Amino acid sequence: MTSQNVRGRRRASGPATELRPARVVSEIRPRDTERQVRRRKSPMRQVADFAAASGVGQKAGVALAATGLVLTVGLPATSPVMATSESGQTESALSVGGTVGSQPEVSAAASAKIDFSRAAVATAADPDGKLKQLLSAQSVGSIQRASSAGTLGSPLDSLVTASPFGYRVSPLTGGTGDFHRGQDFVAQCGTAVHAAAAGKVTFAGWHEYGGGNRVVVDHGNGLETTYNHLSSFNVQVGQTVNRGDTVALSGTTGASTGCHLHFEVQVNGEVVDPMGWL
Ligand SMILES: [Zn+2]
Repeated sequence: MTSQNVRGRRRASGPATELRPARVVSEIRPRDTERQVRRRKSPMRQVADFAAASGVGQKAGVALAATGLVLTVGLPATSPVMATSESGQTESALSVGGTVGSQPEVSAAASAKIDFSRAAVATAADPDGKLKQLLSAQSVGSIQRASSAGTLGSPLDSLVTASPFGYRVSPLTGGTGDFHRGQDFVAQCGTAVHAAAAGKVTFAGWHEYGGGNRVVVDHGNGLETTYNHLSSFNVQVGQTVNRGDTVALSGTTGASTGCHLHFEVQVNGEVVDPMGWL
């Protein structure tokens, strides 16, 4: 990631952002607050943010340039690719040194007593055990929705979808063909965000491509979850988290049009519909 290229983004991690939700709630038109946020960004920033968030950077830049909003947009041709591969690189690079997936599950001493009935009970009662079993039983990419549904815990205490995964009309530009890489859930800024399953934090910082403050948790065997637009987070890279742990507070940092949680599930580095796992 090229953090030196982006200026002025640090403001988003400050507590000032957290003060806005109250107004959003009380206003009849909640988007007004979001517009204020956007007005402070330069057109270039907006385009860059949008491009990053949408994953169709070049097209978006061209479309905006065509409207006359921006005359010169220096979007790199590789922008959408970078959005995926760079974060993937970061995550995989960081997870090389002892990932969840490489836990020595068969390291029990020879004298250890094996109790099958006990293991079966533990799996039924332990969602992480169930998830682990699912992930190790077959390639994560081939897991069907019927098997994966319900294996991840809710990232919020109250899960109400604001915008689903997949193609949609862009909330930033109103343009069509915007690919939404995650599921947006309703959350006032400052709402506790929970790890969807046990895992290791592989990223906790500023996402260059629209995610704002972002936390990525690696659950092993190619399954990752990401939590975006956070107002703050309280985990560090390398930290192990348990399912349900509060890892962050929701916010509206990055390419966001208001307080909410953008939640992603990644399978082997590719985003998939989170609802297939929740
Ligand atoms: Zn989103």
